Amino acid sequence: MKLLFATSNQNKAREIQNLLPKDFQIITLNDIDLKEDIPETAPTIEGNAIQKTEYIINNFGIDCFADDTGLEIEALNGEPGVYSARYAGEAKDSDDNMNLVLEKLKNTSNRNARFKTVISLSINKEMHLFEGIVEGRIRASKVGTLGFGYDPIFEPENCGRTFAEMSMEEKNSMSHRGRAFEKMISYLKNSSI
Ligand code: IMP
Repeated sequence: MKLLFATSNQNKAREIQNLLPKDFQIITLNDIDLKEDIPETAPTIEGNAIQKTEYIINNFGIDCFADDTGLEIEALNGEPGVYSARYAGEAKDSDDNMNLVLEKLKNTSNRNARFKTVISLSINKEMHLFEGIVEGRIRASKVGTLGFGYDPIFEPENCGRTFAEMSMEEKNSMSHRGRAFEKMISYLKNSSI
């Protein structure tokens, strides 16, 4: 069966395709005639994932899934959360975002934080949600050059290294996104779709 992943990122799509049985064919936004950006205006991570999936269903009527991720920092009451991409402004600059977090936490000893990914899957007109969380802490400064986004300042618990010091394989094996996708893939493999 064909399943649309609401992303334009071919690497993300290829990764999922490789983890699924051959009878699932993953297509992306590049394969459909979509002219505008999918709105992401919900106030929560779950809401954004659902909004993207519903947009595809309402406009194209095809089975699909979408993911949304945020970094939730305890001392900042869950910020940046749903605003993670544009925390320091619409330029969506990762360095600016990290600098803002470090500045806000400058005098704070509580460094607890977590990444959360929610995937919303719509299949046969039924919606399913899968959540992946990784707990950790925010470092005092950036460490590491790999990965993207907030990786240089996020240290997953019991690791002693930031995500930006890990290979993609190592990060995926414990990450929020890896965990959420693992749940969805297990559902797709075990349900009689
Ligand atoms: P998205 O929902 O996957 O587009 O993620 C929203 C924002 O969260 C991204 O623009 C990044 O700033 C941040 N983010 C998401 N996933 C990660 C990650 O694995 N590491 C670091 N930052 C991330």
